[in-house]
Amino acid sequence: LRAKLESLRAATPIPINTAAAVEVARLEGELKAGINSGQMQLYVQPIVDMRSHQIIGFESLVRWMHPITGLVRPDFFIPLAERSGLIVPLGRWVLREACHAALRFDREQNHAKMAGKSGFISVNVSAGQFHDPEFIPELASILRETKLNPERLQLEITESILSDTSAAKRWIAGCKKLGVRIALDDFGTGYSSLSYLHEFDIDTLKIDQSFVRRILEDKRSEKIIITIIQLSQALGLEIVAEGIETQPMFDRLAALGCHYGQGYLIARPSPIDAYFAAR
Ligand code: C2E
Ligand code: MG
Ligand code: MG
Ligand code: MG
Repeated sequence: LRAKLESLRAATPIPINTAAAVEVARLEGELKAGINSGQMQLYVQPIVDMRSHQIIGFESLVRWMHPITGLVRPDFFIPLAERSGLIVPLGRWVLREACHAALRFDREQNHAKMAGKSGFISVNVSAGQFHDPEFIPELASILRETKLNPERLQLEITESILSDTSAAKRWIAGCKKLGVRIALDDFGTGYSSLSYLHEFDIDTLKIDQSFVRRILEDKRSEKIIITIIQLSQALGLEIVAEGIETQPMFDRLAALGCHYGQGYLIARPSPIDAYFAAR
């Protein structure tokens, strides 16, 4: 009997917090229903040329309009989507929606606050999408379907994806073959080595908000930003500073030679309609 009890104990899985597991499963179910029933919304935030102050493009940032809770931020549901695999259908929806948004900016340009000609739209891509073998074929069909000039689409990936060097190179090459641009998001927070950055066919570096936030108080953050700007110049990359909240931050970044910026000072993320409201 004792031996039997021992073997039973060994076979019993480690205790889990059942309440938490049930709650996560419930939320995943709600997220799935939300994706399928049109509760997702595409918000956009402008990216400006820091010298001319003109809008050159937008980053798309997804929101979940939950019928009871109201607006849910992606920091909450993107991890949930990643863990459940829902990131694949969600990401596909965002990509298609973003391409349509870019076309809409064209059509309604005369009414939009957007300056200049054809802006680009930047779309976040997370690890689950990177590992989805259907991602590149889907991207190709969305581009074909919408007839969007692929140069006007930018995909934002994070440094963590680059750790699998050969897979990342293949993936980036597949995207570049279709003509889209690649940005490294939250740059400086990952563990990727600067020395191998030149190996990847990347167009844009987005300086992480954590450095931008401290640029005026912390010499080290400022030095890191200066280094990233020099690096981008050496490698011929575009540079975008994220999270610009005040005019002094904007001015310092511009003085350091940062070309493009994004942040609450310029505009908060909002539904696309906000850019066509003035008529
Ligand atoms: P991210 O791609 O780094 O996006 C920038 C985040 O900073 C956004 O948060 C934006 O609203 C916020 N932000 C912009 N300017 C400022 C500022 O001046 N100050 C501060 N404090 N924050 C600012 P959001 O929209 O909550 O998105 C959070 C993250 O969720 C994004 O970080 C991105 O990693 C992820 N995400 C958002 N949309 C998508 C999506 O469609 N697909 C995927 N895979 N991830 C997404
Ligand atoms: Mg981003
Ligand atoms: Mg970022
Ligand atoms: Mg982020």
